[in-house]
Amino acid sequence: MIYEDYEIFTPGPVKMSKEILEIGAKQTPYFRNQEFSNVLLSCESDLLELLNAPKDSRVIFLTASGTAGLESVIMNLFSKDDKAIVINGGGFGQRFVDLCKSYNINHNEIVVNNSNLSNIEDEINPEDCNTFIVNAHETSVGHLYDLDAIGKFCKENKLLNIVDAISMFITDEIDMQKHNIDSVILSSQKGLGLPPGLTMVVLNEKAIARIQDINSHYFDFKNYLNDGLRGQTPYTPCITIILQLEARLKQIKKDGGIEVSIQQAKELAEYFRKGIKNLPFEEFTPFMPNAMTTLTPSDDKSASDIVNILENKYKIMVCPNGGELKDKIFRVSHMGDMQKSDIDNLLNVLKDI
Ligand SMILES: *Cc1c(COP(=O)(O)O)cnc(C)c1O
Repeated sequence: MIYEDYEIFTPGPVKMSKEILEIGAKQTPYFRNQEFSNVLLSCESDLLELLNAPKDSRVIFLTASGTAGLESVIMNLFSKDDKAIVINGGGFGQRFVDLCKSYNINHNEIVVNNSNLSNIEDEINPEDCNTFIVNAHETSVGHLYDLDAIGKFCKENKLLNIVDAISMFITDEIDMQKHNIDSVILSSQKGLGLPPGLTMVVLNEKAIARIQDINSHYFDFKNYLNDGLRGQTPYTPCITIILQLEARLKQIKKDGGIEVSIQQAKELAEYFRKGIKNLPFEEFTPFMPNAMTTLTPSDDKSASDIVNILENKYKIMVCPNGGELKDKIFRVSHMGDMQKSDIDNLLNVLKDI
């Protein structure tokens, strides 16, 4: 159960850097003071900068896993008069559909398989909808959508554009202004390479104007926005993860910014994909993010057998799929503190088995 000496290629949690691990080993400090407020305010402004958020955008920090970020957006931004187009290309798209059902949100589910929505205007009729919801990277299958095309479509049709960027932030491009995005949902344990427990909801002015009165204390955005003005949260946050986030964001900026981070992920993904060219695997989708590669065995091996052999015999954790895809695919993440030497280790083993 303790995987300390394992190689980690799962798409969350991901391999964390030594610096982040060291912060995690320290005592948790008290937080109702100016020092912690400064940390939270600096996280907010760095996140907004990395997302190229428009002026007057805000970040809500919720101590919860990423799904709470998705759920809180569904709870706070919809009235009975709103209607959403929900892109469903796998497990995480399905989660948005299920959330809409739970909260009786009017929605139009669009099941997507072999498209990255580059030709969205031919594929989707906005009809009577005023909101668009998509998981930029559908992590269940490793499928990246075209945020450029989606952004233009949303602008043209006056749709509030809500993007779950949890598994592509800092590995793949997302720009709130260029892509006309109104709300972005992030989470600590994917590309950011932190422990799970913190989800962040970014809202521009237009999204803030959509906030409703809701029947929830913990997830009431108004309280978070209000307390956030002075760098605080209404309830005790995951203080240590926020300290780790601060360090991580500063590091990204110091290393040259989001472009450098995306470029590094791209190089790692390409290095891995080049390495498997002569092995009996095929790439599952042509629309791969830098964050992850999804592979199908091209011989008669079962994907889940491969996952088990890697874990049990070689102490390498890749990510299995469930259900129908159990024997068909497995996933290899390139997120977190990944080096080429980590990828070499995996490639050498894949050659052997
Ligand atoms: C990981 C992930 C989530 C959140 O999952 P949690 O387990 O609740 O943290 C949401 N959307 C996508 C696309 C993800 O990859």
